[in-house]
Amino acid sequence: MSSEKAAVQPQDFKSLSSPHLPEQYGCGPIQFKGSHDGLYERHLLFDNVIAPENAGNRERYEAVARSVRDVLSQRWQRTEQTYKRENPKRVYYLSMEFLIGRSLSNNLLNLQLDPLAKRVFDHDHLDELAILAEEPDAGLGNGGLGRLAACFLDSMATMQLPAMGYGLRYEYGIFKQTIVDGWQREQPDNWLRRPDPWEVARPQEAVEIKLGCSFEVRGGNLRVAVGMPSRLVGIPYDRPIVGYGGMTINTLRLWAAATPEGFDFQTFGAGEFVSALAQRLTAETVTRVLYPDDSTSMGQGLRFVQEYFLVACSLADLVRRFRSNNSDWYSLPDKVAIQLNDTHPSTAVAELMRVLLDEADLSWDDAWNLTRACLAYTNHTLLPEALEKWPLRWFELMLPRHLEIILEIDRRFREEILARFPDDQGMVERASLIEHGGEHLVRMAHLAIVGSHSTNGVAEIHSRLLRETTVKDLAEIFPRRFNNKTNGVTPRRWLLMSNPELSGCVSDAIGQGWVTDLGELERLKPLVDDSGFVDQVREAKRMAKHRFAAWLKSSAGTVVDPNAIFDSQVKRIHEYKRQLLNALRIVALYNRIRENPGLEMEPRTFFFSGKAAPAYIVAKLIIKFINNIAGTIDADPQVRGRLKVVFLPDYCVSVAERLIPASDVSNQISTAGYEASGTSNMKFMMNGALTIGTRDGATIEMAEAAGEENFFLFGLTADEVAGSRGWYSPYWHYDNEPETRAVLDLVLSGHFCRHEPAVVDALRNILLTSGDVFRHLADLTSYLEADQRLRSLYADPRAWTRKALLNIASSGKFSSDRTIAEYAAEIWDARPCPIP
Ligand SMILES: *Cc1c(COP(=O)(O)O)cnc(C)c1O
Repeated sequence: MSSEKAAVQPQDFKSLSSPHLPEQYGCGPIQFKGSHDGLYERHLLFDNVIAPENAGNRERYEAVARSVRDVLSQRWQRTEQTYKRENPKRVYYLSMEFLIGRSLSNNLLNLQLDPLAKRVFDHDHLDELAILAEEPDAGLGNGGLGRLAACFLDSMATMQLPAMGYGLRYEYGIFKQTIVDGWQREQPDNWLRRPDPWEVARPQEAVEIKLGCSFEVRGGNLRVAVGMPSRLVGIPYDRPIVGYGGMTINTLRLWAAATPEGFDFQTFGAGEFVSALAQRLTAETVTRVLYPDDSTSMGQGLRFVQEYFLVACSLADLVRRFRSNNSDWYSLPDKVAIQLNDTHPSTAVAELMRVLLDEADLSWDDAWNLTRACLAYTNHTLLPEALEKWPLRWFELMLPRHLEIILEIDRRFREEILARFPDDQGMVERASLIEHGGEHLVRMAHLAIVGSHSTNGVAEIHSRLLRETTVKDLAEIFPRRFNNKTNGVTPRRWLLMSNPELSGCVSDAIGQGWVTDLGELERLKPLVDDSGFVDQVREAKRMAKHRFAAWLKSSAGTVVDPNAIFDSQVKRIHEYKRQLLNALRIVALYNRIRENPGLEMEPRTFFFSGKAAPAYIVAKLIIKFINNIAGTIDADPQVRGRLKVVFLPDYCVSVAERLIPASDVSNQISTAGYEASGTSNMKFMMNGALTIGTRDGATIEMAEAAGEENFFLFGLTADEVAGSRGWYSPYWHYDNEPETRAVLDLVLSGHFCRHEPAVVDALRNILLTSGDVFRHLADLTSYLEADQRLRSLYADPRAWTRKALLNIASSGKFSSDRTIAEYAAEIWDARPCPIP
């Protein structure tokens, strides 16, 4: 980290982006319709050859989206021209995932065309919601990591940073989840089946990359033909990233794989025709599908090729852009900052070295200094099973030159360690890029740390644990390289767009400034004692709940009572996130009602939503168990109407946008020390939900910002969890805590799983026999105590809303604008480049 030259401060970014009016886009007054040359009608006619009155919602969606793209294209082009002319330092964000969600309403909002669009929709009696729902979610990511990348793009464009996202154009994004008899089923997400109006293919900017072998994919397996070098072509597909106010429009460039052009059919005999086409199929396999694993590294060969493909295409592209504007290789770090989102793109270290050594002909030391000065790495997890390690053999087969470079980096690094820590051979082995013992592996996190100038975690506690545990030795060797950048989320999508009720209420009180400077929400604090305003905030929540309930009824037929407490846990299903602990809490409340039917308890609806990795058996079982509880409660007249459990299928950005504004309670209950940051916690906070949670990830900082008295924290701390390793036993809690015991007895009696003994056996195994690795039983009692406090507060609506308001007012820190300002100032040394 180059803190001594941090010329730009986060606060320098404030109020850079005052909104522009659409008329200033340089394309005259915008017309979607109204005259015969209205954009909307023209697109219906010329793209789809259909009259407006005959158009279906899909055609209408395409026509509106294309009209919006017309409006932004001049500005988009001008953004790139300005960057070319000004030649500023550019930021490149490399990520295997971008969980974008839908773009139409977000682009309308950021261009501030939403009032205009509304008028068009109203005038034509078009069903706006149905049209917006025609857009498939761009689900090019698994969860938090991919969504973070998407929020960062929004913030960088809004803050006018000359930035670009690089990713892969997966033909199939994260799978669609359906629930059949309580079990998750996966369906392919063929999101590009219909033309996507946002993407622009740029075949003229294709790049070619080389692999040391040929390969083909058969039945999901990668087969390698050794010693037969091959080539792949990356074709860029660009998507506009509209900054709020529409001043800057940056680019997300996604690569699609193809074979080198020139199916020069004349040179193929009849016999070669088929094999040429088959080869083409193999190449396109590279970007066919996103790996649906969250928090594990499965080590498949195709994934390895995908990662290298992203790195090689993106570096070739950015180096070409650099060279077209600059003659001096040594100025690379003055013009280029490359952020690696997790270790997935960390072969960038070897690839950039290769370019500088073999193409630029620089010396090793010069190449090494430039590489480290350009690259920075973000770590996202402490879980050992998520840390990527690739077989050395694969490098040997596919990327022999890169292996040479990695081994030379490692050789020099070992010498450096020995020089600084003489006689500490243990340190050398632990810190080395190569893991010996068994199959030799390349430790991708070590490669990223050694080959970059900055390594950051994503919340204070995570950055600390990263330094103290996961990569302790490297942190000792490079103490100044490690830093923290607490995650954030974009308030444009997660508050302004998804919660019009609350946004309106906030803007009426303090104006619109919060949209680009979320710290402004602090100004709501004096209003906590203004009962009129508190009532307005409560009314906004009530309306959001009604809107959600109406959507749920119409889309799924599920009826929920908006007067109930809406209590949500939505995120990937994982043992460490402890959806199972939430389920046990619900069973405890269920027990209480059955034992004491007269018990006073606010009606409560528990929402779950999330996908399990297809190969993660335990996570799928947790989904089944939750659905069983839901069914059992619905069938129980004593409890029905007082408790309800709803599992919303197919969690995605659009589902999050609907549920989060409607939620009263946010569950953030990971085993302390396991959740790097979390970002759904921040979305809920901004939307006025109260958090019941453990002291983990960014939840700690959220509670600090709002005051712990406005949070419902419970459970073991990370240090306590770590300290209990070796002696923790779930049986102690079973034997000594009557309610815990009653909950387990009921679950293990098969009450919720009548004809499914296998589910019961698995639950017994997770919670008792295998030692309850994630400490469910240790935290259940304190969870229930926190829940009791929460319910008492809910009984006093004004006191509840007062706390909700204090949470909203304290959520400013968790804007991704703040996060990006810190990256820009402390890691990238990048400045805004406004578009005239
Ligand atoms: C925000 C978000 C996440 C991340 O949620 P966590 O609770 O932080 O794990 C995952 N998926 C989607 C669709 C999101 O919007």
